[in-house]
Amino acid sequence: MRGLRWLAASSVLLVGAVVRAADAGPPPVIVIRAGVLIDGVSAAPKRNQLIVIRGNRIESVGDAGAQKVPDGARVIDLSGATVLPGLIDAHTHILLHGEEAAEGGYDIQLLKEFPAYRAARATVAARRALEQGFTTIRDVDTEGAGYGDVGIKRAIDEGYIPGPRMFVVTRAISSTGGYQLEGYAPEVVVPKGAQIADGPVETRKAAREQLEHGADWIKVYMTHRSWVDAKGNLVSQPTFTVEELRAIVDEVHGWGRKVACHAYGGIGLHRALDGGCDSIEHGLDLDEAAIAQMLKQGTWLCPTMAVYYMGWEPEGTPGGKRDRKRVAVHGPSLQRAVKAGVKIAFGSDAGGFSWDLPIAQEFSRMVEFGMTPMAAIQAATSRAALMLGMAGELGVVAPGAYADIVAVVGDPPKDVKVLERVSFVMKDGMVFRDGSK
Ligand SMILES: [Zn+2]
Repeated sequence: MRGLRWLAASSVLLVGAVVRAADAGPPPVIVIRAGVLIDGVSAAPKRNQLIVIRGNRIESVGDAGAQKVPDGARVIDLSGATVLPGLIDAHTHILLHGEEAAEGGYDIQLLKEFPAYRAARATVAARRALEQGFTTIRDVDTEGAGYGDVGIKRAIDEGYIPGPRMFVVTRAISSTGGYQLEGYAPEVVVPKGAQIADGPVETRKAAREQLEHGADWIKVYMTHRSWVDAKGNLVSQPTFTVEELRAIVDEVHGWGRKVACHAYGGIGLHRALDGGCDSIEHGLDLDEAAIAQMLKQGTWLCPTMAVYYMGWEPEGTPGGKRDRKRVAVHGPSLQRAVKAGVKIAFGSDAGGFSWDLPIAQEFSRMVEFGMTPMAAIQAATSRAALMLGMAGELGVVAPGAYADIVAVVGDPPKDVKVLERVSFVMKDGMVFRDGSK
């Protein structure tokens, strides 16, 4: 363990204090009394559980009556709360701070914000994620901020700033004509929110560069613009060919890593699946053939519902029609996927909307469109951990797992909205937020 740490000072929310902690001595032992425990895996909550944490790992979990509190342990009383594993958001953008038109939207962040400014705001986003109980994120494109996510991740891991565990994709990859910024005079060179590559040689090279510089996953945009056609259908512009994507997937799988594909529907979605991607991001309009292929190939779906309900363009405009159509098809698409048994991981697209808004609002949409509350919770805990290759270590309150633990007052299986008000957050065995007292 590193020497520099952030530590919670008292019962109030810690705001980024970095304290030099002594490395000497045995790891501290903390015991949490959980009134109700949702462990991330079990179908039903358990009552009156005792969780013993040694250092940064969970040592044991069991009935409070049958467990002994180890000598010298610090006891945290969450007997009035529901305790859960630290939540996982598998689709975020910490280097974006919303796309509100009044604040200049998306473009201004790439055109006018200095890298240091964007990094500074990313530290706030990382803290906001942790405050809200998201102890792990998969951050899926820095949107023109280069390898900034690798730097933020390092600063968090070394204890200089508070934030979640991060799985990062760095720059993401799309084709010419396949990503923003766009709409500028062709003579003006503007930055792009993704690395542009064309042809299998370039796409493979882009993946290699990103992997070399620290990408844990590779993110590929397989659809870009979308619009409503004359028949009223949502249509999405495909980007890469199957051949171009296969070069990326082949490279990334060789490194033992995975590929996330942004895909709405239609040709681009089918190319994403034919190319062997590991997760479909958004999946607004999954048809039966796509769902069947996802089941066969074990592809994950990260639906990111809530973000599409925000920031609509005016009704009647092409953009406004698109925004309303996206929402109209997205819910039924998720419902079909849930019914068929597609593997689902929680993702919010936070950063696409302001970090001031609750990330956990996504739970309500997942439940609205066919998931049980417990399935939605597991999508943000053990299921997301499985997608990240961290089964048993993250997303579960069980012996051997990292001590990433949160608590809420209320009954999440009855009302997932209570997850928007997390009162206790522990990450890696350290208390970051403690509303238990
Ligand atoms: Zn996104």
